[in-house]
Amino acid sequence: MRFVEPERLLSCVHCGLCLASCPTYVELGEEADSPRGRIHLMRALEERRLDPTPAVIRHLDRCLGCRACETACPSGVEYGKLIEAARPFVESHRPGPARLGRAALAAVLTSPVLGALAMAPLRLAGGRRFGRLARRAPGWARPWLSLAAAAPPPAESLVGKTFEAEGECRGTALLLEGCAPSRLFSGTLHATANLLARAGVRVVVPRDRTCCGALALHLGQLGRARRLARETLRVLGDADWIVSGAAGCGALLREYDHLLPDDAAVASVARRARDPLALLHEIGLPPPRRSVDRRVAVHDPCHLAHGQGVRAEVRRLLAGVPGLSLVDLDEADFCCGSAGTYNLTEPALAARLLARKLDRIEASGADVIAAANPGCLLQIRGGAIARGLDVAIEHPIDLLAAAYV
Ligand code: SF4
Ligand code: SF4
Repeated sequence: MRFVEPERLLSCVHCGLCLASCPTYVELGEEADSPRGRIHLMRALEERRLDPTPAVIRHLDRCLGCRACETACPSGVEYGKLIEAARPFVESHRPGPARLGRAALAAVLTSPVLGALAMAPLRLAGGRRFGRLARRAPGWARPWLSLAAAAPPPAESLVGKTFEAEGECRGTALLLEGCAPSRLFSGTLHATANLLARAGVRVVVPRDRTCCGALALHLGQLGRARRLARETLRVLGDADWIVSGAAGCGALLREYDHLLPDDAAVASVARRARDPLALLHEIGLPPPRRSVDRRVAVHDPCHLAHGQGVRAEVRRLLAGVPGLSLVDLDEADFCCGSAGTYNLTEPALAARLLARKLDRIEASGADVIAAANPGCLLQIRGGAIARGLDVAIEHPIDLLAAAYV
């Protein structure tokens, strides 16, 4: 075995039923940029019939890791696990400067100190002027300026805090703050804790800040991802539920057994990991306190919809808010181009996917787009500001908190 068990690759029967759901195939029209084409490439690499040339690596790099192909596949191909196995393998075949650049990006985004330093300008920025600048900036600078425009105002950290349950306690949830990008959304994490407490859940935020390893894995940094996952395991304790502020983290927590197959401590993590919206839906909220008069369309983050199968729960929770009306968003579960670090490493294709998403948002007639993932929020909000759209991009947790807390 070179990087993945060959039988995993053999489960693809090349039917092509996944092609229409693959954002990169839909945009580029190249078989090698489709799930089927990439599985074909991975199989040839695994069987040593193909070398990891720059062209081959390019096709794998262009994969968003959105897992829309898994949802579409009738044969149960676990594409996410295939591409996660291939990424560290191709990493070792990249030219040195590119390899170092990606390792540095993973280090910055997943380290508490470096991440906080990198995010500091975004916290200071928080302004629409960056959106105007993004419109005129060269392609490489646009994602960074859009992120600056979309960053929410700073909020108090939750580190080490406990939120007691209101009324009868139905269990304890450990709330992971996550690494730098998630922590930009401290206000939303606060709202998450308040909502869970209102629903009768005691919420504990660990004293030690950890990163689950998802962004490192996305960049092919398997060693770093495993080290971060082990550090995260140490803070998980025996809470009834483990919730995190980012869909990508939640999806990985549910698959820690794949990342750390030899670690006995992972056994209960998948069972306890929940997206906060799924948990709120499962246990139910008390009657709302206020109405929220907005027309809301839901964007389904890939790692929530395809990675965790959570879609209807978000809509049902929002539909329970008085005054809030739900409207349809075409291609709601089509990737917005954020995809972990994709908008930073593949800015051109990410911008095409973002433009496609914004076209659908304009056509929806919604005045709010609910997006339950920090990466999607930053990407779509930055794009909406740069395009000058009169639409707010909010986390569904914040919309629910306006009604229930
Ligand atoms: S991944 Fe699934 S849907 Fe796509 S070609 Fe293979 S078997 Fe068919
Ligand atoms: S993960 Fe997404 S981008 Fe990658 S092959 Fe599957 S559908 Fe296409």
